[in-house]
Amino acid sequence: MNIVITGASKGIGYAIAEIFAAHGHHLFLTSKTPAALETAVSVLSKQYPVVTIESMPADLSIQKEVTAFANWCLEKTEPTILINNAGFFVPGKLQDEAAGQLQDQLNTNLYSAYHLTRALLPSMLARKSGHIFNICSIASLYAYEHGGAYSISKFALLGFSKNLRLELKDNGIKVTAVCPGAVYTNSWAGSGVDPKRIMEASDIAKMVYAATQLSPQAVVEDIIMRPQLGDL
Ligand code: NAP
Repeated sequence: MNIVITGASKGIGYAIAEIFAAHGHHLFLTSKTPAALETAVSVLSKQYPVVTIESMPADLSIQKEVTAFANWCLEKTEPTILINNAGFFVPGKLQDEAAGQLQDQLNTNLYSAYHLTRALLPSMLARKSGHIFNICSIASLYAYEHGGAYSISKFALLGFSKNLRLELKDNGIKVTAVCPGAVYTNSWAGSGVDPKRIMEASDIAKMVYAATQLSPQAVVEDIIMRPQLGDL
């Protein structure tokens, strides 16, 4: 299968890239910082030399960069699976977070997925097959302290995912919303949180991979995961 993953240089996106490479699938990866993406590709290519691993850096908060990445993907491959994972978290309170915070978070956490999905969908629709994952969050389901604009953007991404699922169910294309609680990635480095208190990026990757292993007539609509000890 041909797997397109955004935000693949580190964290959850990297773990998802790794599990698909380990199972022999071809990867088409993107993230914002070119050097970090190159490093990720070089590590994965050494580990999994038999699979194709190609990459193109793009700032997915900018629509024309999303379009450029989508066109690059369509020139290289017929995408089987799209994983909309790129995102960032800035804690805040709606009342006093920085001006522009909501726009910034929507641009990366929502519009990147919206524009990329719309650009790749015609290829999936023509083949009447495909699987789209949107990496939402527990913050897509509940309000929480310091959720601020991030939580709004993740509620919106879940809304996008639900509507996409409804629209695509008769077209052979699966849609899965992934809602993880805290996962130890760069976002948590330096926070003082014990890595053993929260989930590992590979936990999320294993569930995403498992959701791709069902018969064509079955879909996992939602994956909700939390640390065993509950949310922080
Ligand atoms: P991470 O380790 O910080 O990795 C984020 C990835 O997204 C990086 O590859 C980053 O690339 C890329 N990215 C960020 N902004 C981008 C942009 N404008 N254009 C292109 N790529 C961009 O984060 P993570 O913790 O793995 O999070 C991955 C996803 O899971 C996010 O959507 C996040 O909201 C969600 N999530 C995380 C947690 C958690 O506790 N970690 C919980 C629930 C949901 P650069 O580094 O080059 O910017």
